[in-house]
Amino acid sequence: MPSLFDLDGRTALVTGSTRGIGLALAEGLAQAGARVIINGTREQAVADAVAALNAKLPPAQRANDRANGRAIERAIERAIGRAFDVTDEAAVSAAFEHWDSEGIHVDILVNNAGIQFRQPLVDLKLADWQRVIDTNLTAAFIVGREAARRMIARGAGGKIINIGSLTSEAARATVGAYTAAKGGIKMLTRAMSAEWAAHNIQANAIGPGYILTDMNAPLVANASFDAWVKSSNPAQRWGKPEELVGTAVYLASAASSYVNGQIIYVDGGWLAVL
Ligand code: NDP
Repeated sequence: MPSLFDLDGRTALVTGSTRGIGLALAEGLAQAGARVIINGTREQAVADAVAALNAKLPPAQRANDRANGRAIERAIERAIGRAFDVTDEAAVSAAFEHWDSEGIHVDILVNNAGIQFRQPLVDLKLADWQRVIDTNLTAAFIVGREAARRMIARGAGGKIINIGSLTSEAARATVGAYTAAKGGIKMLTRAMSAEWAAHNIQANAIGPGYILTDMNAPLVANASFDAWVKSSNPAQRWGKPEELVGTAVYLASAASSYVNGQIIYVDGGWLAVL
């Protein structure tokens, strides 16, 4: 019997997956059987991540080719890639049209691309507010809409996993735009569920705690912030990107077929003691 968590035969687009959490999630989904599409804004970084994943993971065998009228098994690369800016509506549409033309269907979408920008609200320029909202919230709508349109048209259901944050729940000083965006992710996830659950699309979110990635490099290097993360968290440490994989595989798989509109916090217990 296939495992409840088996993703064989599925294709997963993970936005912002050239490094950090996105790369760990892409690798985890690929290890669970999915073919993954790597994305970021930089062509070379996308190509490097694709090459690294394909060097690590065996190709998937798919009986989806036809020769002389009979199905033949062919090996397909575990990872493919496409560089585009998730805030660019035309570039997102072009990417999906390209995959349509290649017969590639996105069954699982992880809206992971995100940026941070730290500034007190009274000093925050509108352009910086807009950039953070566009990347962390509006892009999840733009990419989610393209994916869901196709999932609905195909009638085969699908999975959408939006990446929220502790700031989907709790505010902290100097990250006002990010907090507004990630709070929005929690409600966008519910809005997606309200409209798409009837099409057998499960939209859910993951709220990571403080995770060791490039985004947090300045915070890790700041001794007092590092000490605060460790003392305020019951787990008494930063999380690792790979610690989000189990939740992502669960939300991407048949195991979560009746789970909709939820945000699961993977935070070492930080919110539990707030
Ligand atoms: P990183 O900064 O390490 O990586 C960000 C990734 O997103 C990169 O691959 C980057 O690629 C890509 N990216 C950024 N902007 C765009 C864009 N406009 N279009 C396409 N890709 C883009 O971030 P993390 O791995 O730390 O964070 C990933 C997600 O997790 C974000 O949504 C973040 O908010 C969230 N998160 C992170 C936490 C943490 O502690 N690290 C905690 C809670 C949530 P490129 O450089 O090529 O643009």
